[in-house]
Amino acid sequence: MRLPDGQTKGAQGDTALWHPFADMHAVRRDEFIVDRADDVWVYDTEGRRYLDATASLWYCNIGHGRREIAEAVAAQLTRLEAYSVFGDYSNTPARELAHRLAGYAPMADAKVFLTSGGGDSVDTAVKIALTYWRHQGRPERTHVISRVGSYHGMHGIGTGLGGIDANRNGFDGVFPTASRVANNDAAALRAEIERLGADRVAAFIAEPVIGAGGVVPPAPGYLEAVAGICEQYGVLFVADAVICGFGRLGTWYGVERWGLRPDMITFAKGVTSGYLPLGGVVASGDVAAPFWDEPGRPFRHGQTYAGHATCAAAAMANLDIMEAENLLDRALKLETELHTALLELTGHDAVTEVRGGIGVLSAVEIHPDVLARDPGVLGKLHLAARRRGVLIRPLITSLAISPPLTISSEYFAHITEVIADALDEV
Ligand code: PLP
Repeated sequence: MRLPDGQTKGAQGDTALWHPFADMHAVRRDEFIVDRADDVWVYDTEGRRYLDATASLWYCNIGHGRREIAEAVAAQLTRLEAYSVFGDYSNTPARELAHRLAGYAPMADAKVFLTSGGGDSVDTAVKIALTYWRHQGRPERTHVISRVGSYHGMHGIGTGLGGIDANRNGFDGVFPTASRVANNDAAALRAEIERLGADRVAAFIAEPVIGAGGVVPPAPGYLEAVAGICEQYGVLFVADAVICGFGRLGTWYGVERWGLRPDMITFAKGVTSGYLPLGGVVASGDVAAPFWDEPGRPFRHGQTYAGHATCAAAAMANLDIMEAENLLDRALKLETELHTALLELTGHDAVTEVRGGIGVLSAVEIHPDVLARDPGVLGKLHLAARRRGVLIRPLITSLAISPPLTISSEYFAHITEVIADALDEV
């Protein structure tokens, strides 16, 4: 299309990059450009250094800039960059990764459906659940229950399931057979199943520790109780381990900490530490059986880059690092140290609580009076910390901290101090 005389394409200095979850009016000329990164350090285009206290978007579990991943990726790219795994096509990295991930899973005879990310995986798991019930002769089991405060990605089904109201506003009809129950209230799940009738409920989905909804660990006994309720009513239990997996909670899928054996687990993020996009669904042998053991039942679902050979090679190299460096055990040590350091902030007037202690993820809850006085305060706190060289995440009513699992606990006091200084400034 020709532009009228005198008009340029986009105002000068404006970015053409439309940022997710961003007020583009504010960001259009004021981007924070990350130029390079090394382990827990991130550098901007001016060469200023920042401590990455969020592992980017909760994913960079092995730290940035690892040569081992670059080398594995280069080797795979030059051998076979990718080839579709639709139908009977396969490739060695995707097969090996699926085998390895099935082996880590706390379910018997697990199968792994690979995707390109977390949202893909949630939508895939729900479609597996509904198809599973159709194959069982129960096509009316279509309702999925999630929780208030949950986040399950921004694809169609995940948007409809999500428990953060602002993310669902305007899209409530996208996945109509969804409802949400209060978090940490097992009786509420039972009541909702009873209200709907168990014969209409396909699945219940829950993050072991709620992440994007503000870092909310489960109350003691809660996850075991909801798993038991799902079993009692024959409802499939889907654990969304997109944040909680691959070391963030000190185990492969997070759920092992409570001895859970979900029917499905969704994962992404830490499986590659974000070096390349990849996610997936682990399904128990029982869930996979109607598809695997009966002829003529293809699961009519899948993305172009499912089983992408180079993404799978990156995941394998990432898992090698996690095993070689014992990052799961390391995370269990770090979680206590991080939580203990951040607890110092409970003495601050602007802080109501520090949540965490289960996994290397914590949140500092800001006092409601402070939030009411200035609705933009979280953004200001984030910027004040960034000016002091520490990257933290503003999250609904709190500040989230979830560093790479390679971080030295020496930095936890520094992160705490920077947050305290930011609180004093703002
Ligand atoms: N599920 C959970 C628990 C998540 O935290 C996220 C992303 O943060 C997703 C799903 C969506 O993943 P993605 O952004 O890779 O689509």
